[in-house]
Amino acid sequence: METITEIAALRQTLRQAMREGKTIGLVPTMGAFHEGHLTLMRRARAENDLVVTTLFVNPSQFNDPEDFEKYPRDDARDAALAAAEGVDYLFMPAPKEIYPKEFDTVVVVRALSERLEGASRPGHFNGVSTVVAKLLNIAGADRAYFGEKDWQQLQLVKRMAADLDIPTEIISVPTVREADGLALSSRNVRLTLEQRKAATVLSSALSDTQAIADTGVQDAYQLAAWLRQTIEVQPGAKIDYAVVVDPETLQEVDTIENGALAAVAATFGKVRLIDNRLLIAPLGPGLRR
Ligand code: AMP
Repeated sequence: METITEIAALRQTLRQAMREGKTIGLVPTMGAFHEGHLTLMRRARAENDLVVTTLFVNPSQFNDPEDFEKYPRDDARDAALAAAEGVDYLFMPAPKEIYPKEFDTVVVVRALSERLEGASRPGHFNGVSTVVAKLLNIAGADRAYFGEKDWQQLQLVKRMAADLDIPTEIISVPTVREADGLALSSRNVRLTLEQRKAATVLSSALSDTQAIADTGVQDAYQLAAWLRQTIEVQPGAKIDYAVVVDPETLQEVDTIENGALAAVAATFGKVRLIDNRLLIAPLGPGLRR
């Protein structure tokens, strides 16, 4: 694996590979790799001739300076893990390489960036869409891989790529979880043992919501209320939102008849975690899925 820090150098390398007819898979990350990141890399490895992983803790997507400051960083460990997954190029630019001082552009995906995570973290998604647009333009990859753990981000990136005619195919990868259901996240290492235990409420409440839907409840407000209450009663969990929405637009829905997304965010101590699950309405009696 080769580590590259400059945009021009990455471009030149990838252009040459494209001329040779090689396909390129891009995996954008902020480092502190866990099995979720590695699963994205594995998928990219299986589907492309070359794999590029980007590691950039993007300052413009952190609305909370303490979160940016405390974001886990371990470049040497990350490089070893990426190399072990067969990544060809690790792109690790310095902030000034991505945002030189004359930098003056923001990419805004309007409606999708305002709801849920966007409402709780002002400016967050403008930082995400701007940096992802840059990374997609820099790499010119055939495919780019994003995790469903960050569902809203995934929809926003898909919308942006479609709206701006970015030719890279956006591929979604299912959420990787701990044995007890907790979605893997780089922020999990900041949880105390007690908070770590409490945090399982997010995934268990989401599964239980599907179980309630399985009994025939299709009313989205009823399901969302149940989801919210389940998290609220967990000591140590401070809920931010618990909603049942349209999986693409993330707007509220009345019924899960045609499928819906249950999405939650809560804080455990100072650590804010998110999770989501697609809800499927049960079929009528006698029908099989
Ligand atoms: P991050 O480094 O947190 O920005 O994440 C980089 C990529 O990994 C994003 O596309 C995330 O959605 C994805 N990712 C993070 N956690 C998981 C997980 N538990 N399962 C699958 N993908 C994940």
